[in-house]
Amino acid sequence: MYKIAIVPGDGIGKEVMSATLEVLDGLNLDLKYEYGEAGDECFKKNGVALLDETINIIRNSDACLFGAAGETAADVIVKLRQIMNLFVNLRPIKSYPGTDSLFNDLDFIIVRENTEGMYVGKEEYIEEGAIAKRIITREASERICNFAFKYARDNNKKKVTAVHKANVLKKTDGLFKKVFYEVANEYPDIETEDYYVDATAMYFLTRPQSFDVIVTTNLFGDILSDEGAGLVGGLGLTPSGNIGKSNALFEPVHGSAPDIAGKCLANPTAMLLSAVMMLKYLNEQKSAKLLNDAIYNVLNEGKCLTPDMGANSSTMEMAKEIKNKLLEKS
Ligand code: ATP
Repeated sequence: MYKIAIVPGDGIGKEVMSATLEVLDGLNLDLKYEYGEAGDECFKKNGVALLDETINIIRNSDACLFGAAGETAADVIVKLRQIMNLFVNLRPIKSYPGTDSLFNDLDFIIVRENTEGMYVGKEEYIEEGAIAKRIITREASERICNFAFKYARDNNKKKVTAVHKANVLKKTDGLFKKVFYEVANEYPDIETEDYYVDATAMYFLTRPQSFDVIVTTNLFGDILSDEGAGLVGGLGLTPSGNIGKSNALFEPVHGSAPDIAGKCLANPTAMLLSAVMMLKYLNEQKSAKLLNDAIYNVLNEGKCLTPDMGANSSTMEMAKEIKNKLLEKS
C-alpha cells in the first residue's frame, strides 16, 4: 500500500487531478489517498495558501500528486520545495505522437537544481537599484550531479551534459562545472560534455536530439525546461517531478489556467504523465509502463483528445478513454 498525498489546488488543477485519479483507478495498485488544501482557494478560506496540515500530509506520504496553484503559487510550490528540501526538479522533454510538436523524435531529461542558485530569495534594494545574490554550494552541486549521473545509469542514458555560464560567472558556475567533472569520475561508463547556457538554448532548436540528460543550476534549468516544453507540444503535455531525500511531489508544468477552468477543456496529459513519473519513483515500473502506453495509444489514435489538441473531448472523456486502454491491457 502506498500513501499518496493529493493536493488538487486551483482552477484546472482540480479537473486534471480528478481525471488522473479516475485513470489510476484502472491500475492494480493499492493507493491510499490523503487530501490536502493549498492555493488561492485555500488562502481565501483559511487566510494562508499552504496549511500546516497539508505539509504534514505530504511529509508523511510516499509521494504527492499536486495539481496547480494560481496567484499563490510562490507561497505554495516554491515553499514546499524548500520545506521538504526537494532538491531535484526533473523535467522530461519527450515527443508524443499526434501532438503539435516542433520535433517528433525527442527523449531527453533536464535535471534542474531546485534549492539554490538565483532563487534563494536574497534580493535587496541598494541606492543605485537592486541586487540579487546567486548561491552555488559544493554540497548541492555534488548532490544534483550525482542524481543526474545515477539517473543516466538507471535509465540507460549514455551522456550527461552540464549547462552553465562559467566563462562569466567564474566563481559560482566555475564551482558547478568543477564539481560536475569530479562527480563524473565516479561514472566512467557515462559520457560527459558541458556547454554554456546560451549555446544550449540554440542547440535546443538546432540539434535537440543530441541531448540525453542535462544537469544545470536553478534559473538556467527553469528557462531551458520551458524552452524544452515548447519543443514537444507545450504546457498541456509536460509533466515534472520534485524529488528530495525522503519526499517527492509530481505536478504538471502548467498552472491553474483560469481562462479555461471549470469548462472541462483542460488537457489531462501533463498531470497523467506526472503520475507516470510518480509510479517510476515508487519503483512500480510495470504500472508506469502500462499507464504511459495507454496515454501514448490515445494520443496516437488522435480521436479522444481535448480541444487544445484539435479534437473536442472533455477532460474526463479523454481520461476515461485512457482508462479503457489500461483495462484492455491489464
Ligand atoms: P497560473 O496563473 O496559475 O500560472 P496561467 O493561465 O498564467 O495560470 P498556465 O495555467 O500555466 O498559466 O497556462 C497558460 C495557458 O495555457 C492557459 O491559460 C491555457 O490557455 C493553456 N493551458 C495550460 N495548461 C493547459 C491544459 N492542461 N490544457 C489546455 N490548455 C492549457
